[in-house]
Amino acid sequence: ILARVKDVCKRNGLLILSVLSVTVGCLLGFFLRTRRLSQQEISYFQFPGELLMRMLKMLILPLVVSRNMFPANLVEATFKQYRTKTISIIKSSKASPESTTRHVIIYGVQDENGSNVQNFALDITPPPEVIYKSEPGTSDGMNVLGIVIFSATMGIMLGRMGSSGVPLVSFCQCLNESVMKIVAVAVWYFPFGIVFLIAGKILEMDDPSTIGKKLGFYAITVVCGLVVHGLFILPMTYFFITKKNPIVFMRGILQALLIALATSSSSATLPITFKCLLENNHVDRRIARFVLPVGATINMDGTALYEAVAAIFIAQVNNYELDFGQIITISITATAASIGAAGIPQAGLVTMVIVLTSVGLPTDDITLIIAVDWALDRFRTMINVLGDALAAGIMAHICRKEFIKDSEEVTASWPRC
Ligand code: ASP
Repeated sequence: ILARVKDVCKRNGLLILSVLSVTVGCLLGFFLRTRRLSQQEISYFQFPGELLMRMLKMLILPLVVSRNMFPANLVEATFKQYRTKTISIIKSSKASPESTTRHVIIYGVQDENGSNVQNFALDITPPPEVIYKSEPGTSDGMNVLGIVIFSATMGIMLGRMGSSGVPLVSFCQCLNESVMKIVAVAVWYFPFGIVFLIAGKILEMDDPSTIGKKLGFYAITVVCGLVVHGLFILPMTYFFITKKNPIVFMRGILQALLIALATSSSSATLPITFKCLLENNHVDRRIARFVLPVGATINMDGTALYEAVAAIFIAQVNNYELDFGQIITISITATAASIGAAGIPQAGLVTMVIVLTSVGLPTDDITLIIAVDWALDRFRTMINVLGDALAAGIMAHICRKEFIKDSEEVTASWPRC
């Protein structure tokens, strides 16, 4: 038994530490509330948590740039024949181009401060000085949408440049990998920081019991949204396009969904998703090889949904009334932020800052949702993996005739793995 406990602790060390840190943070916070600390003492106490927030914010810019530049390039350079279809399938599970255009137009009509389509266009094509709207080195006021558009455009152009674009592509890959390595080290600080973040927040709060109840409602809302998306919207999309039974398809990838639940990482689940798609659902190997990595990088339906709900929750906790234009801004930035999120545990929490800053909400209030994030992360990762797998299934269906027709030619242009 001791050996088994040791093994479980070794494999789930970070998870156990996270659960413990949330518990310790809550207990410590409630205990210290009875001690009536001074404002000065509270600010010292909050310092380790502040450091954690700084780390998260520090990673945003390189993460968003390298993530968005690389996949666009990958799509353009390597898979010319099927890129349009795949990207449109992946995008349709989040927001159709029509709805995005409609959102932009509505955004323009609704904004009382004179924002319109022109302002929106100006925002997404920022000169360097407004990439950071406030002081450099923080993520407050960062124009992430502009950065995403710029990086993606760069990626597409690099793809067209062929071999002369390779140095910059390699740079992006290295940048991305090094950021991932920093994240891998930083996560070990997270449990420690979380204790102080949560306890510090509890010390500051007027009535923690009200927040507790609200947090429960927030978590239930996210889970309900994910269930509706995962059990109705995604399978129905699959059914309408392929006319095949989505339940059979989903049964085939159950193992991958369970791994996603266990690891909270769509990237870590990739090998199992491959295996399930090839062995159980008989999806063409070439389609799986392309669609799954691209999907694990940019297609995060669950994360987009969670980030939008979380931003609205934080606005409500602060008694901040969101107008229609701001809700549209949240949906667009949540989608953009989910594209920037890596397929690793709690990456969505990092890019959450983007959504909050887009509508001027306090980024420090992310601490309010950290307590339940480790659990919600598991569910949204399952939906992310499900979305990628169904997109691969749809692609395989759409491309089946073309593959039979020119299989040899396509195989020749495909990279060898
Ligand atoms: N953990 C998620 C994933 O790997 C990303 C997120 O934090 O939302 O797909």
